Amino acid sequence: MTFSAIAAELADLDARGLRRTRRLLQSPQAPRVTVGGRSYVAFCSNDYLGLASDPRLVRAVQCAVETEGVGAGASHLVLGHCEAHGALEQALARFVGLPRALLFSTGYMANIGAITALVGREDAVFADRLNHASLNDACQLSRAQFRRYAHADVNALAALLQETKARRKLIVTDAVFSMDGDIAPVAALLELAERHDAWLYLDDAHGFGVLGAGGRGVLTHLGVRSPRIVYMGTLGKAAGTFGAFVAGEPALAEFLIQRARTYVYTTALPPALSCATLKSLELIDTEQWRRDHLGRLIRLLKRGVAARNWRLLDSDTAIQPLVIGDNAAAVAVSEKLVEHGLLVPAIRPPTVPPGSARLRISLSAGHSEADVTRLIESLNALARL
Ligand code: PMP
Repeated sequence: MTFSAIAAELADLDARGLRRTRRLLQSPQAPRVTVGGRSYVAFCSNDYLGLASDPRLVRAVQCAVETEGVGAGASHLVLGHCEAHGALEQALARFVGLPRALLFSTGYMANIGAITALVGREDAVFADRLNHASLNDACQLSRAQFRRYAHADVNALAALLQETKARRKLIVTDAVFSMDGDIAPVAALLELAERHDAWLYLDDAHGFGVLGAGGRGVLTHLGVRSPRIVYMGTLGKAAGTFGAFVAGEPALAEFLIQRARTYVYTTALPPALSCATLKSLELIDTEQWRRDHLGRLIRLLKRGVAARNWRLLDSDTAIQPLVIGDNAAAVAVSEKLVEHGLLVPAIRPPTVPPGSARLRISLSAGHSEADVTRLIESLNALARL
């Protein structure tokens, strides 16, 4: 492809209102941020518990860098698997109540590595249509037959499972949908997995730390357990640090150590980050007030937004999407909010289906009720224009 072809593609993105740009953050990630020298209240991050710049996590990294150094310097299978990684894997397994956990560098890599290891050419994956891009990429890379079912439609999935002749079957779903905020019908999916001898892969990127008693995630929240479940959690969202893990049966972890290419062929995470995540698990567990406060903010927002032409999706999680529809209109509302000192991202296709451009409002325990009230008032004023 020549550069003129690339320029034409970029111009096409501009014309369709799909060109994305980046803002330069000049402060730590937190509900109050500085961008372009101005301060804003941000509803953009996945830092649901407000831990990303917590001074105790900062101190944990500082102390750990003194003792552990900075880089892991090698992959886990060569000499990069440090004591801090081992301790964190044990703590994560205990935390989510599964026998073993295996650390990955990011959630994207965990999904790619685990799914491509578990299924191949003779197999089939069954995926919710609104799954995160990393799951879709993983399913495609696996070379397994890739069957997608309508969002949360258990009957459609049952029909697909009924007709498959695949060797191995893997059902793949976001546990909390990243752009919709709703929770997958996990119990019904597990029942189907049992009936059809399939595995169930749950990406709990947005539930880990937030849902369930002690923030233990979607499995605790819904009270489901099964050796068929492959559980993935990320650490760059509610945990406020970085990285991800896959948890499940001991044989699963051993298998992934051998076969997950994004585990084998990459440098291990900086060990000091694992020390910070260990501290974060303690805070997630003991500071229930963060989840309680977040719950109050979610209810406040849901009660307050009265934008008749737009649709607040039915979500009880920290992800509160306000569907506007048209790409340019969603961007225009987001830009108006900037003038009000509020940052809320406009999410457009291909991240969401065409015609469903939206503001993805994400709430954090770090927000105050006054912050959320300010957002509600701005949204309601803009909706009346
Ligand atoms: N899965 C889901 C559902 C996500 O929303 C994300 C991140 N947005 C990921 C996986 C990827 O996680 P990470 O950012 O750690 O790569």
